[in-house]
Amino acid sequence: MARKKSARPTVAVVGGIELGKRFCVPGVSLESNCPKCGALAETDLANDYLSYPVVGEPYEHTFWCEYDEEEWSVRVVVRGTVEAWDGK
Ligand SMILES: [Zn+2]
Repeated sequence: MARKKSARPTVAVVGGIELGKRFCVPGVSLESNCPKCGALAETDLANDYLSYPVVGEPYEHTFWCEYDEEEWSVRVVVRGTVEAWDGK
């Protein structure tokens, strides 16, 4: 059965966003000060990565201070959507 042609094909976005084992984000860094000595620790997500983050859910990232070997965790969230473009 022939369908009536619409002016523009539509799109359905199906499924969630699965991020892999090594999710890099070039151009984004995480920075946090050591709770013990105040030194700045940085994770450059161009080279380092988040492991299996889930979009929209809290992700626990661990920093390590090279000066006093302190370890601490922070929570970040990866956000991202793919939607049909409505032309506006
Ligand atoms: Zn420190």
